Amino acid sequence: MTISKTYTIASIPGDGIGREVIPAGQRVIETVAQKRGFAVKWDTYDWSCERYAQTGRMMPEDGIEQVKGSDAIYLGAVGYPGVPDHVSLWGLLIPLRRELDQYANVRPVRLLKGVQSPLAGRSAEDIDFVVVRENVEGEYSEIGGRIYEGTEREMAMQEAVFTRKGVDRIMEYAFELAKTRKRGHVTSATKSNGIVHTMPFWDERFAAASERHPGIETAQFHIDILTAHFVLHPDWFDVVVGSNLFGDILSDLGPAVAGSIGIAPSANINPEGVYPSMFEPVHGSAPDIAGKGIANPVAAIWTAAMMLEHLGEAEAAADIERAIEHSLASEETRTADLGGRANTEEATNAVVDALSA
Ligand code: ATP
Ligand code: MG
Repeated sequence: MTISKTYTIASIPGDGIGREVIPAGQRVIETVAQKRGFAVKWDTYDWSCERYAQTGRMMPEDGIEQVKGSDAIYLGAVGYPGVPDHVSLWGLLIPLRRELDQYANVRPVRLLKGVQSPLAGRSAEDIDFVVVRENVEGEYSEIGGRIYEGTEREMAMQEAVFTRKGVDRIMEYAFELAKTRKRGHVTSATKSNGIVHTMPFWDERFAAASERHPGIETAQFHIDILTAHFVLHPDWFDVVVGSNLFGDILSDLGPAVAGSIGIAPSANINPEGVYPSMFEPVHGSAPDIAGKGIANPVAAIWTAAMMLEHLGEAEAAADIERAIEHSLASEETRTADLGGRANTEEATNAVVDALSA
């Protein structure tokens, strides 16, 4: 088959099992690329907490410049015992997300065949939604501080910042995504009964987006009851849009209802394509199992499918998703976190074999 296109992908395996699951995902991409007639040029970076421990920096000063020209970024996980979370967050993940304007964090939540949901009696038809989190503004701002430190009157304040541009574009992303899905429904996470400035504004912009997209059905819940509905009625949801904080909460709860953290994928998207988007499994570096060769590679492989879909290789993405479902169907090819007997390599082989079949 002739090669129609070559994509440049920046690969950042990171720490721990990131270094085991990213090569697995790369193998799968290479296999499907051959089948579908495209090629990938990998640029690999050692940015990680381990690098931080040696050099005092997660990534070089001009790191963003180095990856800016790539078509996508494929990230494993960063985190290392003894290195505080804020170092890996503020030294790598947050600068990448913000400077590459990856304002939509997207996590599909789907109960795959062969995976047991912790919710009793739920099947694949009941759990199939996407959490869209605003990724660059909102509650996670640096504005604020403390006064009267060390006294009885000590106070800490933190400002949340919601811009019309920022809210409108995440709403737009959610509604456009809903158009590509069977149900065409968007749920908004709010808390306008308690947060009386920013959340009513969020609700107004949600209503405005709804008016622009009359074909899409909508619902709105306060975050407290919404988390309960995720567990009690996962079948109510199609696309769920939330602010940086609420989206963060929902995007961890979502994958939890769909089974193992070892399968959940995520993407940080710059929808305009001005900058590369970044794709990473939901799980962390899992120091407890790192180096043992037993990590579930499915999250990284599903993440690879999201990346290829974003690059315009929808058929390759669908091939991978089918191959994943095939590999999850048997205990022989599922990893231990899903009650199976396969190690990382065997589970990856099963996906590669299903692709080649
Ligand atoms: P980090 O600080 O990097 O986020 P963490 O320990 O907080 O790491 P995870 O790395 O996601 O969080 O690990 C949570 C638990 O899930 C651990 O017990 C880990 O072994 C398990 N786990 C995570 N990812 C996988 C995977 N791909 N396959 C199997 N088990 C996994
Ligand atoms: Mg963690």
